[in-house]
Amino acid sequence: MKILIMGPPGAGKGTIAEMLQENFDVVHLSSGDILRDAIKENNPLGMKAKAFMEKGVLVPDEIIIEIMKEKINADAFVLDGFPRNLVQVKKLEDADIKIDIVLNLQVSEETVISRISGRRICAQCGKIYHLKNMPPKKEDICDVCNGKLYQREDDKPQTIKERLNTYREQTEELVKYYDEKNILENIDAGGNKETTYDKITGLEWLKKRKYKSKAGL
Ligand code: ADP
Repeated sequence: MKILIMGPPGAGKGTIAEMLQENFDVVHLSSGDILRDAIKENNPLGMKAKAFMEKGVLVPDEIIIEIMKEKINADAFVLDGFPRNLVQVKKLEDADIKIDIVLNLQVSEETVISRISGRRICAQCGKIYHLKNMPPKKEDICDVCNGKLYQREDDKPQTIKERLNTYREQTEELVKYYDEKNILENIDAGGNKETTYDKITGLEWLKKRKYKSKAGL
């Protein structure tokens, strides 16, 4: 099962991909998380990517492709954040990696801005919170591991607009590309995460697969 999850920044790709990973035998491969880990580890490719990420623009293809090609080796995954333009799509296809289904999370710009500006992340385990919609029990502390919560540098207001522009100008055309291949599912992701998740698990495609999940669904 090879799933690609798409949508603008703040659509909830990471949150939904984590839910899928929890309940099905798929691994969540997030290019953004992989890049942030590379930076934390002082990996030279990560260091090259850093300035682009902080500006909210795409990291050059050769860097992201070099990083991702090591990572996309599972049989069953939810790919999140890659590919982000047609050059990257082509790379995936050249490597014979065939996506089964593309989940396109749709949300309004207003929702996106409110979600991103309230987003906080655990520095230790990566769990995602929202100051209003999904607050931690103790302010600034992760419920799961007691790690400290932080705000992503590119979640600050001045960068959000740039990321949305980048998405519109470079990534949104992939939606059309996958629609023409007949593997696109548009999902209204404007509600809470459970509602969005239920819409996805309710898709005929997932039901037909009779995929054996860890939860026994
Ligand atoms: P979001 O989807 O919310 O913008 P991500 O965590 O997926 O956030 O990405 C953060 C940043 O990492 C992007 O703004 C971009 O600079 C970089 N990035 C992630 N994936 C890619 C990719 N496939 N190609 C180029 N840059 C990428």
